[in-house]
Amino acid sequence: MVGTFMNLTFPQILDGQRIGEEMLVALRDKAESFLVRTGRKPKLALLRIGENPASALYMRRKCAVAEKIGIECTASVFPIGTPLESVEEKISQWNNSPSVDAIMVQAPLPSAEYQRSVFNAIDPKKDVDGFHPVNVGKLACEDSSGFVPCTPKGILRLLHAHDIPLAGRHVVIIGRSSIVGRPLGLLLQSRTVNATVTICHSRSQNLASITRAADILVVAAGRAKLVTADMVKNGIVVVDVGQNRDESGLLCGDVDFRSVAPRCMYITPVPGGVGPMTVAMLMENVIQACEHE
Ligand code: NAD
Repeated sequence: MVGTFMNLTFPQILDGQRIGEEMLVALRDKAESFLVRTGRKPKLALLRIGENPASALYMRRKCAVAEKIGIECTASVFPIGTPLESVEEKISQWNNSPSVDAIMVQAPLPSAEYQRSVFNAIDPKKDVDGFHPVNVGKLACEDSSGFVPCTPKGILRLLHAHDIPLAGRHVVIIGRSSIVGRPLGLLLQSRTVNATVTICHSRSQNLASITRAADILVVAAGRAKLVTADMVKNGIVVVDVGQNRDESGLLCGDVDFRSVAPRCMYITPVPGGVGPMTVAMLMENVIQACEHE
């Protein structure tokens, strides 16, 4: 799996597990300072609709990490078919509660329209996922007072933590979702990062010819083994956001790690790459929300 390129040994692993854990240690101190200052813990409210096992697992994990670093959690689970008004009512209670600092709603929700209405109901100052239009707009305007979505923020932090230069580099992103690809494109092309960004999606033609031109490739398509060795150049940095199940039910990314890794300078593993960074960034955003106190 390890090769050489320009006298360097590669690939090197972008270790989201280690970086994420280091960040959580610092965040635990901040949660503790908040407790000393205010007499209460930071509080994150989470909401889910339906019993999708993956969503339930992600929510439990987020709560477990939060509680480990001194953030209190409260969770509401509504059955499928719950009228929008009932969910909006719950969010309104949390918006108006001085003891709730942060709100996150676990996607997916029953429909795109329902999801948009629920995200729009969250007070932008408590919207730690950064999906409210106010926060989306702030990201687009490079206004750093908003919340940045956790996965793109975590990807950027992971690249920075490994001193991977981004200014002037060509980053190709596969996927244009509002959760990953689109906000990541905005972050990378900002005047603080200065990357050159190409975003591909399911209607892009000649995907391989675009990915072969990438210095850095981020894959967030949700398609197991979409990216194969012939689609990347030697010395590339690959960030695999995908979380899929392979034929044996094991977690795997969107990249065929076995064939692609030997061509990479750096690559994220799945699991242990982007996932832990996303959770750490959620905790960072909760601490950021407390600064409105
Ligand atoms: P999504 O379904 O909302 O978007 C997928 C995007 O990929 C779309 O823009 C689509 O056009 C594009 N796409 C799909 N097939 C393609 C193809 N063959 N060629 C080119 N583009 C293609 O998904 P999402 O919410 O952005 O999530 C993507 C993946 O990332 C999923 O596997 C999800 O589980 C994972 N994810 C992981 C984390 C994490 O923290 N690790 C966070 C969010 C999402």
